[in-house]
Amino acid sequence: MKCTRCGGSAEVKLRQHNANFCRDCFVPFLHKQVGRSIEKQNMIAPGESVLVAVSGGKDSLALWDVLIELGYQTTGLHLSLGIGGYSDRSTEKTVAFAEARDLELITVSLREEGLAVEDAARFTRRPACSACGTLKRHYFDRLAYDRGFPVVATGHNLDDEAARLLGNVLHWQMEYLARQHPVLQPTHEKFVRKVKPLYRTTEFESAAYCFFRKIDYVIEECPNSVGATQLIHKDALNKLEAASPGSKLAFVQEFLQRAQPQLASESNAPPRSCESCGMPSFAELCARCRLVREIESKRARHAASGA
Ligand code: SF4
Ligand SMILES: [Zn+2]
Ligand SMILES: [Zn+2]
Repeated sequence: MKCTRCGGSAEVKLRQHNANFCRDCFVPFLHKQVGRSIEKQNMIAPGESVLVAVSGGKDSLALWDVLIELGYQTTGLHLSLGIGGYSDRSTEKTVAFAEARDLELITVSLREEGLAVEDAARFTRRPACSACGTLKRHYFDRLAYDRGFPVVATGHNLDDEAARLLGNVLHWQMEYLARQHPVLQPTHEKFVRKVKPLYRTTEFESAAYCFFRKIDYVIEECPNSVGATQLIHKDALNKLEAASPGSKLAFVQEFLQRAQPQLASESNAPPRSCESCGMPSFAELCARCRLVREIESKRARHAASGA
């Protein structure tokens, strides 16, 4: 197998691009692909500081590394989720990545905030991923706003976006479809722009990038992801991709070009402010404050019954 770019021995085959690359050509190829996505979607303006949400997994660490290589000014934000040893190992990898490169990293421990995902799920009997998603969104938004960052970048990749799109289409979730875009512009004074520069980059590409760049990431999956519907959708899309390379990319790109703009123009009123924390909300209290109240009342009942 020959490298499409230099003719040397290729190590990576990208069927969706009908191309093969050696490691020396793959790394600049990925930089270019992500750089083009950022420019095409106007994700980051020149001179803007980017807050990069980093979990310790391959996608977010690859994203942080690519943004630095592309010359962006970045700060990492790591939310330690409080999911047993998995979170500890994720935090270790993230801190080691930042320290080795002398990068600025903000770390927030949900356990120290009294909001560890495993406790939130146990007390409220909600699915762990629902509590986790609510808390992640809140902290990314709030920290970006409080610290004056104009933009937050997350490591969602093409596989994530295609699986999310399939899930939304299967249930015709029109509001979610209207908001599914690699760039979310602020609709409230306390929102900042949210971008997904890897939306055209596959999981395989970000894993290969980490391997070639010697980026040490947490390989294990979150224990709560076992049996998640998103994994079923990813499996289905992988089968389609194997039979017809390029399907995932076309699915997402065609949606963004043909359907999403129309859905976005019909979407609902912007959020108001949460009466407790002041962050954007579609109800009196935002999802995070509702979750906190529920946890506090269950904790109080728990303590009373144990006393
Ligand atoms: S799988 Fe669920 S609980 Fe685990 S990190 Fe993802 S959203 Fe959070
Ligand atoms: Zn090459
Ligand atoms: Zn709130």
